[in-house]
Amino acid sequence: TRVDNPYVGAGVYVNPQWSRLAAAEPGGSRISNQPTGVWLDRISAIDGNDSPTTGSMGLADHLDEAERQRAARSDGQLVFQFVVYNLPGRDCAALASNGELKADEIGKYKTDYIDKIAGIVGNAKYSKLRIVAVIEIDSLPNLVTNVSPRATATPNCDTMKANGNYVEGVSYAVGKLGGIGNVYNYIDSGHHGWIGWGDTVPEYDNFYASAKQFAAILGKNSATKDKIHGFITNTANYSALEEPYWTVDDNVGGTPVKERAKWVDWNDFNGELGFATAMRAELVKQGFDSGIGMLIDTSRNGWGGANRPTAKSTSTNPDTYVNESRIDRRHQKGNWCNQAGAGLGERPKAAPKPNIDAYVWIKPPGESDGSSREIPNDEGKGFDRMCDPTYEGNVRNGNNLSGALADAPVSGHWFSAQFQELMRNAYPAL
Ligand code: BGC
Repeated sequence: TRVDNPYVGAGVYVNPQWSRLAAAEPGGSRISNQPTGVWLDRISAIDGNDSPTTGSMGLADHLDEAERQRAARSDGQLVFQFVVYNLPGRDCAALASNGELKADEIGKYKTDYIDKIAGIVGNAKYSKLRIVAVIEIDSLPNLVTNVSPRATATPNCDTMKANGNYVEGVSYAVGKLGGIGNVYNYIDSGHHGWIGWGDTVPEYDNFYASAKQFAAILGKNSATKDKIHGFITNTANYSALEEPYWTVDDNVGGTPVKERAKWVDWNDFNGELGFATAMRAELVKQGFDSGIGMLIDTSRNGWGGANRPTAKSTSTNPDTYVNESRIDRRHQKGNWCNQAGAGLGERPKAAPKPNIDAYVWIKPPGESDGSSREIPNDEGKGFDRMCDPTYEGNVRNGNNLSGALADAPVSGHWFSAQFQELMRNAYPAL
């Protein structure tokens, strides 16, 4: 039987491979014992493929090591966090993590990927672990926000919506992994800077439509609500937990910032705590279990360092007010690749707030989001100009500069300069 919150009264797995890379950096030993997510970003990662992204350890190696870490603890409890990330037509609105499976390879996804993972995870020797499966980042929300007739549509997202393979794949993963008694499924639900717009007009509504889209998996492929422990927000993104100096409901110079400040642009939230809490309530309304919990990825949303504001702005211009007050220093909330100025966020922590099961570091700090220029590779990683610091943007980031760091390697590869900046700008500081 599953416990209500797997993170309470338990340690969390430290990935020795990430830990070694972190510890080898000057100052890195300050965080190298933090738990981070293990990403199974392609089929060969299950056995271990010696790639610069996932290293030599396969899933069974990680689980063996996790079982060792568990047995060494006095409480005898350990959470192992891994990421299921290999859908057909993956990452349909971007190019940096397109992956290996073509849009129609759902059969291969089921048999060669999910079934294989379930076969390993379900081994009785791992039954004492609390195994957290983070399910398919960025997939279902893309079926809401990046499809026709919206201006933000991409042909690949239209394809994945039409062929149904994201819904088929996510429900299959949930059903199969959720059939294992000690697996805790958490489905990705985007972040407030993407999904935080709720509206009665369909073309402006991301929030309610996303909750409905998540609920559309219920009942498919044995994905019943008892197999979904919760949802995760902000995975591999940079959205702050909360803005300490202002709210979207502030009025300045006689105008509501929600309507007039470009940074807000009618978004209902300015942080992940508000978003995760509201999304949780909406998910329960849509049919998920009333006991679901939320995870928030805080690996890179600290926004500390010299450029962090220390007080609310006194400006009466809504844009100036928000821009001078906000700790999130991005050009725009749609920016997602290797953001300059970001810092490590809250350290991983169990039950930090009501209904939040944990702050987690699912994206391992120091691993790139995508290359700044085209780099040939055999990992299915394309070049997305959102990772190029000279790129002036597109409709999905309001035609703003990308804000990406220069000289980044392909996604998943170690990016020392980013790791150093994340430590420098950590908040809370290291
Ligand atoms: C990459 C994966 C990588 C993960 C964690 C993703 O953006 O596509 O290959 O494992 O990030 O760094």
